Order: sequence, then C-alpha cells, then structure tokens
Amino acid sequence: MTRFHPPGAPVAVLTTQPLDRALDYRAPTGGVEDGAFVEVPLGPRKVLGVVWGEAAGDWPVEKLRPILRVLEVPAMGSPFRDFIERAAAYTLTPLPAMLRLGLRAPGLGEVPGKRRVYGLGTGTPDRATPARQKVIDALRDRPTDLFALSELADLAGVSTSVVKGLCASGAVLEQAMPRDADFPPLDPARAGKPLAPDQAEAADALRAEIATGDYGTTLLRGVTGSGKTEVYLEAVAECMARGRQALVLLPEIALTAEFLTRVQARFGARPAEWHSGVTQAERRRTWAKTAEGQARLIVGARSALFLPYRDLGLIVVDEEHDTSYKQEDGVLYSARDMAVLRASCEGAQVVLATATPSLESWANAELGKYKRLDLTSRFGEAVLPKLATIDMRDEAVAGGRWISPTLKRAVEARIIAGEQSLIFLNRRGYAPVTLCRACGQQVACHQCDARMVEHRFLKRLMCHQCGETAPMPEVCPSCGVEGKLAAVGPGVERMAEEVTALFPEARVAILSSDLFGSARALKAKVEEIASGGADIIVGTQLVAKGHNFPKLTLVGVIDADLGLQGSDLRAAERTFQLMRQVSGRAGRADKPGQALLQTYQPDHPVIRAILTGDEEAFLREEAAQRRAAGVPPYGRMAGIVISDPDAGVAFDVGNALARNTAGLDEIGAEVYGPAPAPIARIRGRHRVRLLVKAPRQAPIQPALAAWVAGIDLPRSTRLSIDIDPQSFL
Ligand code: ADP
Ligand code: ZN
Repeated sequence: MTRFHPPGAPVAVLTTQPLDRALDYRAPTGGVEDGAFVEVPLGPRKVLGVVWGEAAGDWPVEKLRPILRVLEVPAMGSPFRDFIERAAAYTLTPLPAMLRLGLRAPGLGEVPGKRRVYGLGTGTPDRATPARQKVIDALRDRPTDLFALSELADLAGVSTSVVKGLCASGAVLEQAMPRDADFPPLDPARAGKPLAPDQAEAADALRAEIATGDYGTTLLRGVTGSGKTEVYLEAVAECMARGRQALVLLPEIALTAEFLTRVQARFGARPAEWHSGVTQAERRRTWAKTAEGQARLIVGARSALFLPYRDLGLIVVDEEHDTSYKQEDGVLYSARDMAVLRASCEGAQVVLATATPSLESWANAELGKYKRLDLTSRFGEAVLPKLATIDMRDEAVAGGRWISPTLKRAVEARIIAGEQSLIFLNRRGYAPVTLCRACGQQVACHQCDARMVEHRFLKRLMCHQCGETAPMPEVCPSCGVEGKLAAVGPGVERMAEEVTALFPEARVAILSSDLFGSARALKAKVEEIASGGADIIVGTQLVAKGHNFPKLTLVGVIDADLGLQGSDLRAAERTFQLMRQVSGRAGRADKPGQALLQTYQPDHPVIRAILTGDEEAFLREEAAQRRAAGVPPYGRMAGIVISDPDAGVAFDVGNALARNTAGLDEIGAEVYGPAPAPIARIRGRHRVRLLVKAPRQAPIQPALAAWVAGIDLPRSTRLSIDIDPQSFL
C-alpha cells in the first residue's frame, strides 16, 4: 500500500547504509509519498534512501531530522518494495544490501545538468603520447558512446588527467550530460515471421497467459533452433501491446548483440540495455526511462531484475538452466528464482526458455506449479545431430595429445566438404597444471588453495579463483631449478595448438572468454566465424551458448567425462545439459550435423542418456535419485562458508555452530560439517564450510538466521549463507 505523508509527519526511510533497519525522519515541506527516493542526513553525511512506510515511532517527532530533498525520479512502486523485502528475507540478505541492488543508477543523487560526459572528438592531439593514444583507441572502438570521466580513464587504463589533457585540442569532446533521451518506440503490431504450427500454438498459449494480467510461470522447452526466441518475442509483443513493460534476461553479455538485432528486425527499433558492458550514461538512461515506463523492453543481465519498472508484465529468462544466473558474489541469489518472485509481486508472467531444463524448473512443471510448452521439431528442415561416442580406450593417442584418430578423420571429411568443425573442451587456458619435473611440485597461487593455470596466449599464469596473474616463471618457484616446468593436461589453447599441428592447412579460431578484451571484439570474431572465416573452431562453453554458426556440422567433444568427476550434486545434470547444448550447435539450416563424444566411460548412465537424447527419462531418473536423497529440488539446502585469515579461528566458529543446532533440529534440518571447503583458501582467507539440509517445506530461513545470530563472530571472520547453493566450492 502506498500512502502520502503530509509535511512534518514521521516516516521510515530505508538507506543503503549497513544498518539493520529503516530510520525515522520527518516528511519535508510538500510532504512525501511511500517509495519516494530521498536524500537524508545520517550523522555528518547525506545519503540516499527510499521512504519505507510508517515510522517505527520510538523517537518523539520533534527530535527527528527532516528529509533534505526528494529526488526528481518516480517513486519506487509498492510491488518493487515488496520484492526487495521478500528477496531479502529469502536470501537472508540485510535489507539495505538488497535495496542497494535497486539503486544502481549511476549519479542518481546528482543534480541534473551538472554532470559532464566525454566522447570522441574530431580534433587531433597537439602532442601524441602512448597514454593519449590509449584514450583515442578506446573511443574509436566505441565512437558513439559518452563516458563519465573516471569511466573513460578506467576503460583506457590511464589517469583522468590524460583525458582532460585531450579536451583542449578537441580530440576528446567534453560536454554537459544531455538530458536522457527517450528510447525509440517499439512497434508490437509489426508482423513477425509466419510461425510453424507448434510455434503458433505455443505463442497463443503465452498470449493467453499474458492476457490474464496475473502472475504465472511457463517453461518453454524446445531444442536449440526450434524457434523459442520467435515464440517468446510474440509474448513480448502481446505484453507491450497491453501497455506493460517486458524484460528479457540473457545469461551472457556476448549474446546481447545478436538478440538486439533480432529485436530491431521484429519491432523496428532497439530496446534498452542493462549490463556491465554499457556506459554509465546509458545505464542511467535505462534506469530513468524504465522508472518512467517509457522504456518498454529491457534486455539485460541478472541485475536488470532490480530496475524500477513502472508496470512490468513479462520476464523472459532465456537459457534458464544456465549456471551464470546464480550470483556468487556479494548478495547470493538465483536470477531465475528472483525473476519468479519479482513477477509474483508485479502480477507478471515469466517465461523460462531452454533446450535443457534445470531439474528445478522441470520438477515445478511436473508439480503443476509451472505451465509447460514444448516445441518438438527444429524450425524448417534442420534435424538434430547424430550423436556417437568415441571409446578412448580403443584409440591410439600419443602422450600430450588428445584428438583421437577417429575424430581426426571426421574433421578431415568436413574440411574436404567445405564445412566447419568445433573442437570443444570446457577448460580455459593452455594447461590446467604446471608441474616441475625436477621436484614434482605444482605451481600454485600464493593466496589461494588453487593451481595456477597457464595462459600461453597472455604469456602468464592465472589463478581462476582470485584472478591473480604472474609472468610465466623461468625457474621452479619451489626448488629453483631452471627449464623443468612442464604443462600437464589440456586447456583450450593447447587444443588449438594440436589442431593446428594436425591440420596445418586449416584456418583455426579459438573462442574462450578470456581471449577477448571486449564484447565488441568477441562479437566481431563470432560474426567472422559465422560467415565462414574458419574451418575449425576450438572453444569452451562460450560456444555452447546460443551463437549460430550455419556452416558448423561437426562437434567433437574432447573430454565428455570432464564434468562427471567431482561430488557436486548437479554434476550429472550439468554434463547432460552442456553436452546436449554443445552438440546442438551442429547442423542448422539444411545440413545434418554430427557430434562425437570422446569418453573413457561410454557405459556411464549419463553418457548413455546423452546419446539416446531421452531427456524425460534422464530427468525422471535424476529426480528419483534426488528425491531419495532428500536434496534439491526435493529438499532444501543452505551452504555456510566461514572464512578467516586464521584457519583455527574459522574452525572454532564452525564448531560452535555445529554444537548449537537446537533450532535447526526443531525444523527437521540436519547439519554437516564443519569441514574445510573444497577450495580451502581464497585470497589468503581460510574457508570452512557447513551444509544444512532440510525437508522441502521446512521454514529454513528464520531457523538459519536465529542459528547464526547465536554466535559471536570475531571481527576478522566473515560468514556467508548461500540458500540453494549451486556451487559447492
Ligand atoms: P531457439 O531460440 O529455439 O534456439 P530461434 O528462435 O533462434 O530458436 O530459431 C532458430 C532459427 O530459425 C533462427 O535463425 C530463426 O530466425 C529461425 N526461425 C525460427 N522460427 C522461424 C519462423 N517461424 N520463420 C522463419 N524463421 C524462423
Ligand atoms: Zn588465487
């Protein structure tokens, strides 16, 4: 309920400061409504906040400080405030931290007209220096974008004074921040592609859901290329035609470019964008126009769930099974689950689109909580690729080589036919392990319990946990012997080396997320490959995600067993999804495709399920096992990670928690641990893990909150709770 507070009335204001609750203030001259964005005094500072309903009233009104200013942006609607509260309660996140996700508009509190932005000018610098050239290069890369000063300096990797120095000559143009321009209107009435019968049926069903004006979730399942995107664009059209806003979430920024082009073709203009790849000025515009309701379609990353929609009618979560929807830093949340929560607060529809549903979504559809639509055929003539295994126990492969003779012959045949092959290995870098042949030690990160991974392309070692990099050492860091360091095991860069050696005439392209400095560079590469600029693509899971390569007819998976190792409860599900996704890359259009999986365990049930492609049978079997074990989605889990520079301190806290489980026992929850986390040290902090498992209906959040509140944490110790953990590291 939104209400108006007359001047001088006490109101609660929630700020993003780390306090445990909203504080009381006095409404300003002119009064203020619930949800208004305001500036309030806090100690000696001024901070931003949102009017959060009735005052708590534990201070006399005359002692309250007044709200200083009401920002000139539309107030936060009550569905959004409701969402923030429920998301905070679900993920056990303090309200201020949750609110911060909703206030991510750059310069929200600044007075309009005072901000200055920088873009490419027409002048030439009076004096050329390498630093100045970096700025010019960065701007030439994005000639139409306008940047904040520090943003441009960061992008170019120079100090702000370098940017300032370029303004005098006009090489960089400084100007007052223009008023946020409206987004060009999208026309939902434009005709889409004529739909195939199963597409048309699914589109009708989604339109009917939208017409209810209520919350609902639909799982839209269809193999890659079955035309799911065309179908959900019909739902977007229906939503916009009814005057409501639509949000499409994509798992990977690299996928947005292709999608924006499709939106433009369908609706006549580009939608608003929200992700880390767009400038601050553009993000500000998207935030403001979303709040006004002028931006009707927003395409973004998971954080777009926290935009201030005026009237949100539809959220599409594309590739809903994708693990990158889980935010693993700071506030821990699953964007898929939060999309459902936000939609239920807004009276909006959710479409979960995927070729390989997550077991969670599949189970919700089985239970009837979600509706389910299936697209059964590929669009047009294209057929699914034929899948087969290559039994590596029967193949003669030399040491330090990974491509079997069978796979080699298959690639050769494609080269002769003028078609593309993909060699897939889901491991970045050159080699996962660097070993000293003199002392036998592996090169490890000095601040994490993790190996350093050689990236030969960057000529550096990199820690995939903390991002630390170091030049490739000449001598062993452990024993000091020179020239004995050896790469062990394959990474995607090493595969490219082997491919080049095996097929010296072929044009080879590598696609791995760390090899591209910008989304733009990656996009250019993808387009080049799609138009036939490579014979063989060597890639990581980056290629499994949605890029279309029309000439690709063969997928060779180097190590289909890779994801099956390890104790992760979703290992089977993930391997199944990834193998199906990557195989689905082969044979679009009119050319049949083939996928060959190199494996040492061709009889493993997961490998067999991948081959038969009987997804329902696989999911039913997975579901039966998880139900028997009482694990998600048939039970609830929470991961607790305690970290401290001192391993003993972290363990003491873990043991104290493990001794004090009365509240959890009451709801039928079990506690496992403490144990050292699989990665026992990150950035110099020792990590100890506990796992809580509870029955599906158990009220796990309040029990967990009370449990950890009962422990006094040493100042150096951090404790994080991950509800529904996806990764167990
Ligand atoms: P998915 O999202 O299921 O992978 P897409 O919607 O991307 O499938 O469709 C795959 C390809 O088929 C795209 O190039 C798309 O433009 C084309 N396509 C899908 N449906 C139609 C249709 N009804 N008419 C023409 N082309 C279509
Ligand atoms: Zn590290």
